[in-house]
Amino acid sequence: MRFDELGLVPELLHAVSDQGYTTPTPIQEQAIPIVLSGKDLMGGAQTGTGKTAAFALPLLQRILPFANTSSSPARHPVRILMLAPTRELAIQVFESVREYGKYLPFRSLCAYGGVDIKPQIEEIRLGVEVLVATPGRLLDLVEQKCLHFGQVQALVLDEADRMLDMGFIPDVTRIINLLPRERQSLLFSATFSEEIRKLADAMLRSPVLVEVARRNMASETVTHRVHPVAAEAKRALLAGLLKSAEFDQVLVFTRTKIETHRLARELQRAGIAADSIHGNKSQQDRIKALEAFKNGTTKVLVATDVAARGLDIEELPHVINFEIPHTPEDYVHRIGRTGRAGKTGTAISLVSAREVPYLVDIEKLIKIRIEQLIVPGFEPEDDYEYPPSGKKKSRRRASSAETPSARPQRERPAKRGQTSGKIGGRSNHAAPDGFDFSKPYEPSATASLEAGQGVKHGERPRPPQRIVAALLGGPGRKQT
Ligand code: AMP
Repeated sequence: MRFDELGLVPELLHAVSDQGYTTPTPIQEQAIPIVLSGKDLMGGAQTGTGKTAAFALPLLQRILPFANTSSSPARHPVRILMLAPTRELAIQVFESVREYGKYLPFRSLCAYGGVDIKPQIEEIRLGVEVLVATPGRLLDLVEQKCLHFGQVQALVLDEADRMLDMGFIPDVTRIINLLPRERQSLLFSATFSEEIRKLADAMLRSPVLVEVARRNMASETVTHRVHPVAAEAKRALLAGLLKSAEFDQVLVFTRTKIETHRLARELQRAGIAADSIHGNKSQQDRIKALEAFKNGTTKVLVATDVAARGLDIEELPHVINFEIPHTPEDYVHRIGRTGRAGKTGTAISLVSAREVPYLVDIEKLIKIRIEQLIVPGFEPEDDYEYPPSGKKKSRRRASSAETPSARPQRERPAKRGQTSGKIGGRSNHAAPDGFDFSKPYEPSATASLEAGQGVKHGERPRPPQRIVAALLGGPGRKQT
């Protein structure tokens, strides 16, 4: 199917062609005619499927009869409201709206928190037809009494599952209650839990369900790999992988803001161009970090799930899970950033003994048994057990609720390479898990890694055959 077969007006087709899109993606092919017909829609699609154009293009066309070039604010009331869970996603949606609508006279605005509200109020007062916003800031604007929703014709709730995760549903419900009952509503979510369905029931009227990939399928263009490794050796293994492979950009995931920040700093000390992106950073710093990553100044961006949500980074070949997520759907979201638009990507997970049950959950969800490769010198804990016995699983699950400092310290002889788990050269800094950053980075780890070769868990190490670039899914350009 071609774009011009979807019933879009020439102005929108022109903008699409400017973007270089030649054929609609499956979600666009299915959703655009439904949205154009005025029906409500429940879209099962994750970021990277082209869902933004799937709702933005037809909605812009729906309000076309109201397009005008009058300078009067009254002639430009809010007609389309798009809610996104994070600032990054809101900006991304807004930029797409601006691109797709560039040949139409609509005014649009992106409103998110963490920045001065006054310029947003001033812009709204001038008139805005398409408002993209995060729920919290939108309610702040409502309180400022500068917003009127009487003319809202369409509502889009993007990444509803993330809204739920972030606790935004009460805010979203408040917003919905302020809107006209006669409106078109679209809800997009990568997963459909009971709660999402409840929200959809309250928000949508006889929606058409469109699902593009099976709801929890991981991208088929992504190669998955697990490196079983002791928790305390993860930093050294990560630094070794990042230093030894030839790649342009890697997104590294951790589970907490504090770990994100700390890991990026340690990587910087190890001479790796790394930065972090997490919720505690100012909006300006987050944008700066993202820009540096996009333009290649920063090679490694360490992120939490929430901060990374909605990042639109094209041609990102590698995602590394420094810690695997405890919710299997988050794994799917994380790797949704790689292997986009038919490109191949690699998702590498560093998995310690206590993370095995979560790995099992992920494998169940994505229906893939992930290859496990031990990097010599970075073996997992002695009790690394895959697949785990039921007894151990429940014990580990219980212990996973503990804070790192509450975990029992393991008394075990250092394995070769593990002493080099220090990637920074600072003093007097011990991590809660006993890891000591104070010792300088020992190049032997990298050396052993560069010369080393992965062995499948449970197998005896074999002589080196593969290089680390290959471990990272690279083409093996760097011969040893
Ligand atoms: P989204 O899922 O909306 O975040 O889109 C993911 C990426 O796909 C963005 O970089 C879009 O610019 C791109 N994209 C959207 N539609 C198409 C299309 N029909 N052909 C090629 N790329 C597209």
